[in-house]
Amino acid sequence: MSDCLFCKIIARQIPSSAVYEDDAVYAFRDIAPMAPVHVLIVPKEHIASADGINAENSASVARIFEVIPKIAAAEGLTNGYRVITNCGEDGCQSVKHLHFHLLGGKKLPETMA
Ligand code: AMP
Repeated sequence: MSDCLFCKIIARQIPSSAVYEDDAVYAFRDIAPMAPVHVLIVPKEHIASADGINAENSASVARIFEVIPKIAAAEGLTNGYRVITNCGEDGCQSVKHLHFHLLGGKKLPETMA
């Protein structure tokens, strides 16, 4: 999508700090990290949010979850980590391209809401 921030990042029209890339997935450091490790993992195909996952595009989501342990290991997250996705208004999703936050490197707060 031409007006999507993360599509522009994937296309290298906007710079980012790459962590991982393959044919279906791109991962890069969050510009405003909320933990010592804060990586965003996105499908290269535009999916607006978790609410847009379906039988046609779920393979790229499965790929994301295959690579998360590899990224976590590469980032040294041997003591655990958190993976979250914000969806829609109530989920406070600010960028409308599906992304998973990988957070770690410290003991994270228990509270989610
Ligand atoms: P969410 O609020 O779940 O939609 O998360 C969007 C995330 O994108 C936030 O954590 C932002 O800090 C991050 N973000 C926004 N713009 C950029 C950018 N240009 N490069 C890296 N991360 C970004």
